[in-house]
Amino acid sequence: MEYLPMGGSVKMVEETLKLAYGENSELIKEKRIAAVQALSGTGACRLFADFQKRFCPDSQIYIPVPTWANHHNIWRDAQVPQKTYHYYHPESKGLDFAAMIDDIKNAPNGSFFLLHACAHNPTGVDPSEEQWREISHHIKAKGHFAFFDMAYQGFASGDPEKDAKAIRIFLEDDHHIGIAQSYAKNMGLYGQRIGCLSVLCEDEKQAVAVKSQLQQLARPMYSNPPVHGALIVSTILSDPDLKKQWLKEVKVMADRIIGMRTALRGNLEKLGSPLSWQHITNQIGMFCYSGLTPEQVDRLTNEFHIYMTRNGRISMAGVTTGNVEYLANAIHEVTK
Ligand code: PLP
Repeated sequence: MEYLPMGGSVKMVEETLKLAYGENSELIKEKRIAAVQALSGTGACRLFADFQKRFCPDSQIYIPVPTWANHHNIWRDAQVPQKTYHYYHPESKGLDFAAMIDDIKNAPNGSFFLLHACAHNPTGVDPSEEQWREISHHIKAKGHFAFFDMAYQGFASGDPEKDAKAIRIFLEDDHHIGIAQSYAKNMGLYGQRIGCLSVLCEDEKQAVAVKSQLQQLARPMYSNPPVHGALIVSTILSDPDLKKQWLKEVKVMADRIIGMRTALRGNLEKLGSPLSWQHITNQIGMFCYSGLTPEQVDRLTNEFHIYMTRNGRISMAGVTTGNVEYLANAIHEVTK
């Protein structure tokens, strides 16, 4: 339990970069990535926001509507002004792609855009591969900087490699990007506060400088990050057998959630609900943005002891074969 260096465990960071940038990434070989261990995904976002404020003091951050609520707190406390961009379309319960692209085009050149790499929280709505290509194209054309929050790698498709698709598209298009990675969900290491912040730079020299500045930001905040989670992650990911076992478990977890989506929708349809519940299976990841109103959510809580956020977001991780029928029945009752 000795101190780690300011930038955290080198071995953990190395393995973590491979997950995001690719096992055989040239960018890693060229040492173009400045990366430090971070206090899980939240800490990675906050460190980046502080970095943004220090080195681009007049910049803003564009955040999707809606987003994980803490994004607003993080950039607010880092004193970076916030703008929003269209993301979710309430009628279709899918992506408001045209409006999102318009917002990218209309933002001042060189703006910062926060993107959820996969399994968008709270909506469960991700762009398709084609849409990502277009998003990448427009972000590049405007000289914007894309910052990916990747809190759920593996949770969307069950394969961390597939879930990194958006990032890989941006790399193909030669962007400079930032990534916040977290092991809270995909390794179940919530309380260990283990994650990584990386910034893809122009060259090795710039990466050394950026890493040094990230460490300068970390030092007066927490000196160095915690060691236990870093040891767990680096032990698993650097051992081929353990890594294989982890990948298998991630897939089991994601497939279970996908199965629960099918079961929830199926049960609602079986009950004769006249509403469309297709979005339950179209959406992906840990959350289902059900479309339930705050009043309907209150009824679920008060009459059925079913708990979800008042924006109608169901944590699919809490849905099981044992309670899915009860849940469907209650949803049917409050939406009649
Ligand atoms: N980003 C998103 C989109 C999240 O949903 C979460 C957790 O809910 C996080 C980041 C951060 O989680 P942690 O700090 O536990 O890694």
